[in-house]
Amino acid sequence: MEKKITVGVLGATGMVGQRYIYLLKNHPWFEVTYVAASPRSAGKTYEQAVESRWLIGSDIPEGVKDLIVQDANDVSAAKGKCQFVFSALEMEKDAIKSLEASYAAADIPVVSNASAHRWTDDVPMLIPEINAEHLDIIAKQKEHNGWNKGFIAVKPNCSIQSYMTPVFALQQAGYPVKRMIVTTLQATSGAGYPGVPSFDMIDNIVPYIGGEEEKTEKEGLKILGKVNGDKIENASGPLVSAHCNRVPVVDGHTACVSLEFDLPKEKKPSLEKIEEIWQNFKALPQKISLPSAPVQPIIIRHEINRPQPRRDRENDKGMAVTIGRLRECHVFDIRFVALSHNTKRGAALGGILNAELIKAQGFFDNL
Ligand code: NAP
Repeated sequence: MEKKITVGVLGATGMVGQRYIYLLKNHPWFEVTYVAASPRSAGKTYEQAVESRWLIGSDIPEGVKDLIVQDANDVSAAKGKCQFVFSALEMEKDAIKSLEASYAAADIPVVSNASAHRWTDDVPMLIPEINAEHLDIIAKQKEHNGWNKGFIAVKPNCSIQSYMTPVFALQQAGYPVKRMIVTTLQATSGAGYPGVPSFDMIDNIVPYIGGEEEKTEKEGLKILGKVNGDKIENASGPLVSAHCNRVPVVDGHTACVSLEFDLPKEKKPSLEKIEEIWQNFKALPQKISLPSAPVQPIIIRHEINRPQPRRDRENDKGMAVTIGRLRECHVFDIRFVALSHNTKRGAALGGILNAELIKAQGFFDNL
């Protein structure tokens, strides 16, 4: 059996970090050997550090509970303890940016959930079903920074996961999208732990999530962009107008989407054609059978009242996008509702899928 790659989790005690710890239990390629968080947790066993705030409905994995939590700001502590790290840190953006770069400089690749490097020109922002080829920029990234084995790859925001793959599938099939109006209904787990105060959340909807509308409107452009020389160049569209709302749901971000194609009327796809494209969509992660890839990335439900977070968020390990209510739009062309699991596809398992793609493409070969 091939020896597993040793992994560290930065921010291991947080909402996303805990998901990493749980989801990496028994992973076929990766093994958690290092955990780090804030100085508040450093020096405690992992079990002590998460004592009253372990949020997963299952015990802490045996191999991790006795690991001593290190200070994530001390890069030297990770040297020799793990071959790459997942970053699930919640700190000031510039602090995360320079800390992740320090890990990369110390020959420890970083697969990040944080937004700090999403707009760094030579850092790929990956959804493996859409832009696996953006990994080509890593050679340039290493060259620009003088890094040897280290590099940074990031995951986009959880709010866009439910509709980006469906939009990409349509574009790839020859149906370019011009404009979209997206209204998200985002779960409380998206705000980390303890997150939004219960008084604001119970019996309520909060129609504002700081920075989220900007991310929802812009990140897709980089993901749909192309590697050009030294950088990833953004796509020119689609144009997105977003309303992001926090709703009293534990896990699962929903997006209500109205979409207009960039095509003359006679060339626009029928609803049947759109369903066929989504049903049949498969990409590299499915073709090379990455362990965390969903078998079918887009699942369509025909019931009038689906998708629903409680019923559909766990579809295919929490990695499939579930779509329902596909219908014509009287203002744009079509409307639909899309759902994805924000702490699985949108965070930890999405990060693990990124790392699996990176490994499968040979970028961990020399660690
Ligand atoms: P969280 O629950 O607040 O956890 C934050 C983690 O960062 C904890 O482990 C915390 O350690 C650590 N930390 C805080 N301050 C630190 C410091 N000064 N030095 C070192 N470590 C520090 O946050 P989260 O929801 O898991 O989010 C983690 C990251 O993932 C964020 O960048 C977030 O934007 C991103 N993300 C989250 C989601 C989601 O659905 N939640 C989705 C996509 C992306 P202590 O426990 O010791 O304080």
